[in-house]
Amino acid sequence: MELKEGRYSIQGLDIIDLVSQYGTPLYIYDSAIIKRQLDRLNAAFKVKKLGIHYACKALNNINILRLINQWGAGLDTVSVQEIWTGLKAGFSPDKILYTPNCVGTDEIEMAINLGVQVNIDHIETLEYIGHHHPDTPLCIRINPHVMAGGNEKISVGHIDSKFGISIYQMPLVERLVKTLGLRINGIHMHTGSDILDPGVFTLAADILFDIARKFPDLEFIDFGSGLKVPYKDDDVCTDVEELGAILSDKFNQFCKDYGRDLSLYFEPGKFLVSECGFFVVKTNVIKQTPSTVFAGVDSGMNHLIRPMFYGSYHHIFNLSSPAGKPRVYNIVGYICETDTFATNRVVNEIHPGDLLCFKNAGAYCFSMSSNYNSRFRPCEVLIHEGKHYLIRQRETIDDLLKNQVELAL
Ligand SMILES: *Cc1c(COP(=O)(O)O)cnc(C)c1O
Repeated sequence: MELKEGRYSIQGLDIIDLVSQYGTPLYIYDSAIIKRQLDRLNAAFKVKKLGIHYACKALNNINILRLINQWGAGLDTVSVQEIWTGLKAGFSPDKILYTPNCVGTDEIEMAINLGVQVNIDHIETLEYIGHHHPDTPLCIRINPHVMAGGNEKISVGHIDSKFGISIYQMPLVERLVKTLGLRINGIHMHTGSDILDPGVFTLAADILFDIARKFPDLEFIDFGSGLKVPYKDDDVCTDVEELGAILSDKFNQFCKDYGRDLSLYFEPGKFLVSECGFFVVKTNVIKQTPSTVFAGVDSGMNHLIRPMFYGSYHHIFNLSSPAGKPRVYNIVGYICETDTFATNRVVNEIHPGDLLCFKNAGAYCFSMSSNYNSRFRPCEVLIHEGKHYLIRQRETIDDLLKNQVELAL
């Protein structure tokens, strides 16, 4: 987003003009930022075969998926519904990874029948597939028990985590693979979001390589994600260029030892789409209490839950007042819960009617939205090659009622 002569714009399109056309609350995505991030990843890893698979739970609009498919990346899915969306967006099944957790065998069956790469994180499921689909190549999700991640809720590699098969259970996995004649074509880990330190990856890489040597039929090793992007101006974030250099060297050396060139996979969600998103809301009220000045906006935890759910920071600025006097606010939603977006936040003086913009609104924002308080979900607008497109309509009362079965009471 650019600020020129008091007006904010994306790819040359004035944001306030877009708001006049589409209304608030409004999600806006800048496709050029997704492309930039994808190009960065592709350039960072110097290996023979690289597979970037976009973790679409971060932002699942089908048009975003279409672009990512056109740009050559694959897809990482966690549900059969995400697989269906991915197929509809044009991904071929062999570019889709399916990494479910705690799903039933009926859903695993569907994924196998759709021809996508299944990634297993439960020993009994491994046995089930061994008995029913012994020819299906499988990837194993390992929990390396490397403690990493931005906070407890998004750190999934620790000992109490429900994700993955523990490295301590590898002897059992090996026994099952041999006995049932399974073909293990991939090894996977995903230690959690927000990994700042390339050292965490290289430590986990060594663990994965050790395990990989035990499986002779591998085609890929998948390092999951956890690549962090800046949320604040001075934020530390994953240096993917440094990570790429270190990990590529290690990976190439491993392939030499292994005797074959494998593919190196990553599954970024946040890294690709976090920064592309801008969420615009309108200030309804400025409400002063004895202790606090609240800015109450026409949105809430129903549209962007990360601050309440994870304690996440989203930078918020006053689109209507680029040169205003800075003041301190608690920025809150209109939901009948304590839905606080930001506490003690310095924002240029806010008046009722002012438009506020949230940054980093691409990942885990719309995709986590709900209809709580019977509110409509916002519309989504894509800015692509200098033009704007409505890619999801704002909901209406019909959307809220359409699956309700009205009885003649
Ligand atoms: C959510 C998820 C990702 C993406 O994580 P980010 O932190 O958004 O990059 C990757 N792989 C799996 C298996 C996931 O569940």
